[in-house]
Amino acid sequence: MNQKYDILIVGGGVIGSAVAREMSRYDLKIGVLEKNQDVCYETSGRNSAVIHGGFAYDIGTLKSECCVEGCLEFDKVAKELDVPFKRTGKVLVGNTQSDYESLQNTIENGKINGSIGLEMIDKARLHELVPEVIGEFAMFSPKSGIVDPFQYTIALAENAKINGVDFYFNHEVIDIHWEKNSTYTIKTSQSDFNTRWVVNCAGLGCVEISKMLGITDYQIGGTKGDYIILDKKMGPLLPMPVYPVPTNTYMGIHVTPTIDGNVIIGPNADYVDDFTYYGVPQKNMDYLAQDASNLWPHIHKSDYIRNYSGIQPKWLDGDNVVKDFVIESRKEAPQTINLVGIESPGLTSALPIARRAVKLLAECETLQPNKNFNPNRKGIVRFSEQSDEEKARLIAENPDYGEVICRCEKVTKAEIMQTIHNPLGVDTMIGIKYRTRSMMGRCQGGYCQMRIAQMIQEELNKQVTDVLYSRNGSNMFTGKVRE
Ligand SMILES: Cc1cc2nc3c(=O)[nH]c(=O)nc-3n(C[C@H](O)[C@H](O)[C@H](O)COP(=O)(O)OP(=O)(O)OC[C@H]3O[C@@H](n4cnc5c(N)ncnc54)[C@H](O)[C@@H]3O)c2cc1C
Repeated sequence: MNQKYDILIVGGGVIGSAVAREMSRYDLKIGVLEKNQDVCYETSGRNSAVIHGGFAYDIGTLKSECCVEGCLEFDKVAKELDVPFKRTGKVLVGNTQSDYESLQNTIENGKINGSIGLEMIDKARLHELVPEVIGEFAMFSPKSGIVDPFQYTIALAENAKINGVDFYFNHEVIDIHWEKNSTYTIKTSQSDFNTRWVVNCAGLGCVEISKMLGITDYQIGGTKGDYIILDKKMGPLLPMPVYPVPTNTYMGIHVTPTIDGNVIIGPNADYVDDFTYYGVPQKNMDYLAQDASNLWPHIHKSDYIRNYSGIQPKWLDGDNVVKDFVIESRKEAPQTINLVGIESPGLTSALPIARRAVKLLAECETLQPNKNFNPNRKGIVRFSEQSDEEKARLIAENPDYGEVICRCEKVTKAEIMQTIHNPLGVDTMIGIKYRTRSMMGRCQGGYCQMRIAQMIQEELNKQVTDVLYSRNGSNMFTGKVRE
């Protein structure tokens, strides 16, 4: 028999997870259908992780409105969801008269959008904020910040789950059918579902899901951005993100500290048709390093520890002009909320976008509050970040805190065990990595990977051949070499 829902959300990225969380404030039966094994395998885990100030987007757009709203509320959100966030500020660095005029225009634009505290600063102040940055002057945005994009998406999803939302991983939506009884049947790669409402949060898959809902007039262009990750020892040299002068569609190649103290370099923005290829060619890495060295002089190959890439779903009109976010409910697709073109600043804007989706729902039916809704969620305690007294207390309470599994990031057995039993039921290597930072250090899992795979296997009673690194087909082992 089909599972019956009030709302089914397609896509478990930051947007689908935020929509799930905001809708769980109401008395509704909600599910999330995600084709991957976890919530942030695609764009939501593959970005710059900057909470943008909202100054660069066209006035009056949803991008500017949602971004400013999302940026200003982020301290409260991070606290509620126990997500690492730093309001670092950010500089946009210029050198020429035309850069100066562009940055002045950006400030004017930003003020109208509602961005707070934007100012031009001279070279001396720029060097006070970011020593050794290369540039003559800058625009300073004090409200910009950095977040852990994995933890944020996971926290939204876990909070939704705590508030009653069901998550179905490995469920790719392949067909949606409007039935005579005014409900939808959703066919997935595993089973069929029945729902009154469908919310399209499919990111790069938003056009396919729109078509399944009978909405056929969107085209999406993908721009792929590659990144290099530098060793944590570089983090102290970069207190905040450093950007070049932006256009309103591209922020440019920047250098950004991550919340955990690495530095990321990127992204380029190459138009791509293949939305599944995340490889990073050497020539792109060389280009990123060369270009970013004009802003920051500390980029050396010996500090590279990894690369990654992400693809933005840009809604393009017939003339290939990039358009705004779409958050709509259309008559020809009854009981649907359709989200299209949620590119940057989608991470910053996730909750404001979700609230606008709820508003569309509330315009069509009366929503009763979920009396048990709890806005708070607690993450796993990071042992390495605790005081010596607290560390001693934790070890006395649970000796597994005394055993370090990932030496680079100092992640203990207790943290890995809690993660293996995470609320969303995720059991891949990368699921553990995103939640604990194990395997993210200098050795990239060389030391701890086998031990973690063994813990997943033993703890969840899995066959060794069933432990996945990330997606289907990424099996860690083909069998035992000897008994
Ligand atoms: C290079 C780059 C840099 C960026 N930098 C920033 C930044 O610094 N700050 C910022 O605010 N924003 C940034 N963004 C934008 C931000 O990352 C995205 O807007 C946001 O992550 C979009 O989230 P999403 O949930 O819509 O998409 P996704 O994370 O892609 O989630 C969509 C989900 O839908 C699932 N799905 C798709 N089709 C189906 C189907 N048929 N069935 C089931 N599931 C399906 C996918 O598997 C995926 O998990 C950046 C993006 C990129 C690419």
